[in-house]
Amino acid sequence: MDVILTGTGSPLPSADRAGPSTLVKASTTNILVDAGRGVVMRMMAIGVRPDDLDGVIITHMHSDHVCALNDVITTHWVRTRERKPLRIWGPVGTARLVERTLLMLEDDIGYRTDHHEPLIDGPRLEVTELDPGASFAINDVRVTTAETAHAPVHPTIGFRLEHDGSVAALVGDTLPCDGVDQLAANADVYVQTVLRRDVVELLPGEMAQDILEYHSSVVDAAQTAARVGAKRLAMTHMVPAPAPEQYPEWVARAAEHFDGEIIIGDDLTTITV
Ligand SMILES: [Zn+2]
Ligand SMILES: [Zn+2]
Repeated sequence: MDVILTGTGSPLPSADRAGPSTLVKASTTNILVDAGRGVVMRMMAIGVRPDDLDGVIITHMHSDHVCALNDVITTHWVRTRERKPLRIWGPVGTARLVERTLLMLEDDIGYRTDHHEPLIDGPRLEVTELDPGASFAINDVRVTTAETAHAPVHPTIGFRLEHDGSVAALVGDTLPCDGVDQLAANADVYVQTVLRRDVVELLPGEMAQDILEYHSSVVDAAQTAARVGAKRLAMTHMVPAPAPEQYPEWVARAAEHFDGEIIIGDDLTTITV
């Protein structure tokens, strides 16, 4: 499997980092995990078009993780000749999010179906809401879910993807918890959204301090990786986003707690497992 960090940003806008999303390629199967800002541009950079997607899986409905879902839906729709539905899985609430997204797109869908004869109707979507613990297959990729800890956002889930003996855990925004431990157990790569607690604590303003309550720090992620026996830790969605010269400091901090491989994500960083 190739785990491609299509967006390593956070809610804070960045010129260099798209919003949070990851593309998992397992032979010919393409699975998009979350759909943050600019995801379609980043997918095109690796030659994956929206109509090449076999599924979109969503960890939670924070806007930074889903704000480009409308772009994925629209570009999948207008590019898909054989009317293949876009399949979307996510926690309870995903169907409502998709319904409201279609409502937002209603005028556009009307303009395009009126104008383009091949577009005989609107986007075809198959949405499945998942309870934590659910497992299912996307082609020959086994997907297992577990509840994560991102309160007051609820529900939130993470994913364990297994293909051909390889395991990738993509757990989204979460504090360390049993669900993450299950998903990341012995994973070939554990992808965790992180912040630097020691840096965020020094930032001014109440909102900066609020985010400490529901994200894993670099230390948390490294301790989880060590506890569950993950082979690699990939950090993404870094807050505050580090400049490249700061990467060694981030990695060193994680390495105090985890002696496996530590990867700090740039957009389009690819991890092959
Ligand atoms: Zn986030
Ligand atoms: Zn979040």
